[in-house]
Amino acid sequence: MIERHKTKAVRVGGVVVGGEAPIVVQSMTNTDTADVQATVKQTIELAQAGSELVRITVNTIEAAEAVPKIRDALDRQNCAVPLVGDFHFNGHKLLSSVPACAMALEKYRINPGNVGKAGSADSPFAAMIDIACRYDKAVRIGVNWGSMDQALVQQMMDQNAKLPEPLSSDRLIQEILVVSAIDNAKRAEALGLSAERIVLSCKMSGVQDLIGVYRLLARRCDYALHLGLTEAGMGSKGIVASTAALAVLLQEGIGDTIRISLTPEPGGARTKEVVVAQEILQSMGLRAFTPMVIACPGCGRTSSDYFQQLAQDIQRYLHDQMPSWRDQYPGVEEMNVAVMGCVVNGPGESKHANIGISLPGTGEQPVAPVYVDGERVVTLKGETIATEFQQIVDDYVKRHYAA
Ligand code: SF4
Repeated sequence: MIERHKTKAVRVGGVVVGGEAPIVVQSMTNTDTADVQATVKQTIELAQAGSELVRITVNTIEAAEAVPKIRDALDRQNCAVPLVGDFHFNGHKLLSSVPACAMALEKYRINPGNVGKAGSADSPFAAMIDIACRYDKAVRIGVNWGSMDQALVQQMMDQNAKLPEPLSSDRLIQEILVVSAIDNAKRAEALGLSAERIVLSCKMSGVQDLIGVYRLLARRCDYALHLGLTEAGMGSKGIVASTAALAVLLQEGIGDTIRISLTPEPGGARTKEVVVAQEILQSMGLRAFTPMVIACPGCGRTSSDYFQQLAQDIQRYLHDQMPSWRDQYPGVEEMNVAVMGCVVNGPGESKHANIGISLPGTGEQPVAPVYVDGERVVTLKGETIATEFQQIVDDYVKRHYAA
């Protein structure tokens, strides 16, 4: 059992981030927000994949004016996912010129490095906090090492140079990010925003840097924390780097919401980042989203690709059923299905799963024993193994999880 770092609970529309709430999966669109149709389509895809919050870029007046239209279109299609606005240099102007945008969003992401110093009461930062207070919206104060507050950097570098034992440059950057995030959060509180409306993030692109900075942040504050490795990259590199960083922090109980910043392959699905986020949480036993398929890697005993095909088909089938199963069969997301390549480990692994099948390995009898809740129930053979096995899975779901 992982003991979570205690943080304040922040309501973002109908979703709670922090406190005792389950760790929230979020994602971000990569459409032009001014293109209402494309943004609505991608937001629905992300929400259906399991994204519980969706962030959209709000960078121009056209994008800001599109936001309420996007919200209306989502509501008309019964997609209630809360929208988060990603603001940078001109967020204060956009939110004040388009009040309907300010109202349609549930959370504003503010990057203090890109909106100037929080100090004065008429700063862009103060203007955004004022609007968040007026409309009772949450705010993420998201600092990023790619856009640090340069005045703070200079000040802390000067102070560091005078220390008898100055911090290393890596450690100093972490310190600057943490100070920037917490100082700006305190400033937002002083401006009237409740601590229960503030989420913090300190994004870095190096695994060890990210781990270091969030450990510091968790030690020094109890604001809800948004975790993510920024610019994680493409393909397996992005997935591995994000998993390596987030798994360490999540294991230490740090993090209330996560986003995986994958660069999609050309033509690849944006929803991949949602699937990866869910798989990280599910593999760590922190949340369950979809039934898990346990499959062996295969070896010299699996001479055909039949076994990989079956594992893939079952995984896809379970994934495709989840949008309707989620409500119809509560608890089905906890189910485990084992698809094994031969009888060496097949029956043993199958007995530990809810349902398991061991396909015949090279030189073995052409039969596939199936186990349900640890008991051998049937032996499949012939051309119909895949369809019969899928039927067994279907029947099991209906029997065990019907509401
Ligand atoms: S279960 Fe059988 S096929 Fe799969 S890896 Fe082990 S020995 Fe190979």
